[in-house]
Amino acid sequence: MADIADRYDPGRVESHWYRVWEERGLFHPDAASPKKPYCIVIPPPNITGSLHWGHALNNTLQDILIRYKRMDGYNALWVPGTDHASIAVHVLLERQLAAEGKTRHDIGREAFLEMAWKWKEESGGAIIRQLKRLGASCDWSRERFTMDPGLSRAVRETFVRLYEEGLIYQDDYIVNWCPRCQTVLSDLEVEREERDGEFVYIKYGPLTLGTVRPETKLGDTAVAVHPKDKRYAKYVGKILEVPSVDGTITLKVIADTAVDPKFGTGVIKVTPGHDPADFEIGRRHGLPIRTVIGFDGRMTAEAGRYAGLDRFEARKRIVEDMHQLGLIERIEPYRHAVGLCYRCKTPVEPLISRQWHVNVQPLAEVALKAVRTRRIKLHPRPWIKTYYHWMENIRPWTISRQLWWGHRIPAWYCDADGSVHVSRTDLTECPKCGGALRQDPDVLDTWFSSGLWPFSTLGWPEQTADLATFYPTSVLITGPDILFFWVARMIMLGMHFMEDVPFRDVYLHAIVRDAEGQKMSKSKGNVADPVVVMEQFGTDAFRFTLAALAGLGRDIRISEERIEGYRNFANKLWNASRLVLTNLEGYAPALARKGTPSVADRWIKSRLAATIVIVRKTLDTFRFNDAAMAVYQFLWNEFCDWYLEIAKRSLYQTEDPVARAVTQHTLVETLETTLRLLHPFMPFISEDIWQRLPQDRGARAPGDRSIMVAPFPKAGRKARDLDAEQAIAPVIDVVSAIRTARSESRVSPAAEVEVTVRPSAETASVLESSRPLIGALARARVTVSTEATRPPQSAHVVAGSTDVYVHLQGVVDLGAERARLGKEIERARKEIAFLEGKLGRPDFAERAPAEVVARERGRLEEQQQILAKLTASLTALQ
Ligand SMILES: [Zn+2]
Ligand SMILES: [Zn+2]
Repeated sequence: MADIADRYDPGRVESHWYRVWEERGLFHPDAASPKKPYCIVIPPPNITGSLHWGHALNNTLQDILIRYKRMDGYNALWVPGTDHASIAVHVLLERQLAAEGKTRHDIGREAFLEMAWKWKEESGGAIIRQLKRLGASCDWSRERFTMDPGLSRAVRETFVRLYEEGLIYQDDYIVNWCPRCQTVLSDLEVEREERDGEFVYIKYGPLTLGTVRPETKLGDTAVAVHPKDKRYAKYVGKILEVPSVDGTITLKVIADTAVDPKFGTGVIKVTPGHDPADFEIGRRHGLPIRTVIGFDGRMTAEAGRYAGLDRFEARKRIVEDMHQLGLIERIEPYRHAVGLCYRCKTPVEPLISRQWHVNVQPLAEVALKAVRTRRIKLHPRPWIKTYYHWMENIRPWTISRQLWWGHRIPAWYCDADGSVHVSRTDLTECPKCGGALRQDPDVLDTWFSSGLWPFSTLGWPEQTADLATFYPTSVLITGPDILFFWVARMIMLGMHFMEDVPFRDVYLHAIVRDAEGQKMSKSKGNVADPVVVMEQFGTDAFRFTLAALAGLGRDIRISEERIEGYRNFANKLWNASRLVLTNLEGYAPALARKGTPSVADRWIKSRLAATIVIVRKTLDTFRFNDAAMAVYQFLWNEFCDWYLEIAKRSLYQTEDPVARAVTQHTLVETLETTLRLLHPFMPFISEDIWQRLPQDRGARAPGDRSIMVAPFPKAGRKARDLDAEQAIAPVIDVVSAIRTARSESRVSPAAEVEVTVRPSAETASVLESSRPLIGALARARVTVSTEATRPPQSAHVVAGSTDVYVHLQGVVDLGAERARLGKEIERARKEIAFLEGKLGRPDFAERAPAEVVARERGRLEEQQQILAKLTASLTALQ
């Protein structure tokens, strides 16, 4: 039992226990269990991914909840899996091919897909090993992949049903096109970036209008004004023949409320082929479409003599040519948002193309209602407004992507009769004419399959036992950056196909930043590899840091000092446990039951009960940081710093075997319960120590026991013992006061001091009866008297309503101490004068950076406090 190493070695403990848990099947729940279900589906990391800080935080929080609920008697399931990540895999493989001087088109679709699967088998899923390293208690027997056969079937089923319901359709629509990635992008995949450009005012016959994209002028099919704009009313409905760079062009003048009369000249050119707003105007007015920029980002044949030019080169040339022709009125510098491909940052080109879309509006209405009626709760609450805004303004979701790796669209075309067939099974011949068919070459947006994740992973469209037991899932924990990409789509698709919410709570965690508040990024070089940090400080310390910083809605600032601090916490726990374990000789719980717990025993149990209540309440409301801090405070301050000190006295000094047994019993029970409370945060060290504690519970066979499935602590209403708390609190205050006075007056730690305590009326009897305890904890002979006055040559400290006087005569060399204090006071005064002088100089106050001034002010305040203390100490010696 006492065979416990001097130092805590996280490496040994972590690899050992994770293997044991897995071998014993402790992560694996049975769908048929009568226990109440609790389920979390993991946000599937990309198979190309490796563990970053966001993952580490996200999965630590999920593991805390799942371990808590599993211990608390729930049938807890955490479903793991990975996402096939279309674009990321393409980028990776195309880079490999490029190194050989090839493109994917050189090797063809089949060979490319073979390459992708091979890559997945050999190198994919590194992140799964890293999640295990983190201690994630996922049920690996239920691990899924978005392109596994079951999930692929779910995708087809979804596509076919939405198609049959008329919610999936093919349409020529203006889409965001990346000329570099050669694929369509959803609105969400376009990033907006402010850039400097030029606003070019062009003459259109009698009208003048401004544009930032003069090259699209070649695709204009109308000009538009606001219907109420009196300036231009006479032109509305007219046809204008205006001179242009390529001869004369014919434009219709139309009136549309989409035009802002206050912007520019109040006239806009309408280019339905190259602008989403113009496309809508064009549809309303039946305007023709001219496509002058191609999918390769170059001007098309329709662009006449500019054909073949890059779109940005064409912009320059057209402006030059218009200058020559006198068609430009003026050019103004203009800062505006440019849409960029989120992958490669190339400016996106709005282009018309035939794509598959989902009409998400009816789905969004249901999904909005689910949040409005609080069937799904979003935490923290400010995200609700963002969600409403997006869902109320939702646009069709373009789901086809011009990629190969992914779920191929289950649509077949017959070139002979032009028919289109959408099918659950692969088709080989045309159902209409029996002729040859051609499958749509595109794949689905990756988010289409991950949108089904909460039910597809549980077996849908089969009606499986898992689906019946675990859907709706309980909580989703994810980053706010994918609220719309993913969360909103899971809600829409879950409500539609399962007719129930996919989860009841969504917790959107904060973003992890470095100590300076910078977002972690490889290009900034401020990213430590989480796996390396785990190696260095231990996984438990790493997890605890993340939990302790995960305040609702706040950014998380990681620093090495914090992690080091929680490693010290793990070490402190280890050392405290060693102390308990090495003092259990002759431990007999039966003997302990014959004795009466001391007030300190009752106090620590009461404090533990209070801590349990806080931890449960805060975990239930996703206040992970408050939960972590409550355990930390209890364990470090109350258990280690006070109770252990008190207990040592009883263990080492008492002759009474019953009293000794009572102390041992309290130590074991308190430590055992605290370890269970700590387990979700620090799973490894808590298990390792827990296994070493004597068990008089005997519920399970020894080989089977694990803290993982021991009950999570509960505290009944009667568990608090306020009498004991009121008795110990003043003792702690007085002992702390004596310790402060001793150290400030430089009393040797070995010396015993004389102390006079003047208590308030309320604490008098408690302090009187605790005199021996106070004396032992503070190395003092204590007198308690409500009548006491300040003795000469004593240090005075106030502890709440109590005055504490520490007699210094005979314990310190008063002459030498006075001289030392005098010197110190002199030094502090000089420092204060220097700092005051510096801060008073106008050149410093005005020119030094604000943080430097603040730092010097802080130093001044510090020195003033030191001076006050020194002066008080000197007075005490008079
Ligand atoms: Zn791109
Ligand atoms: Zn046919």
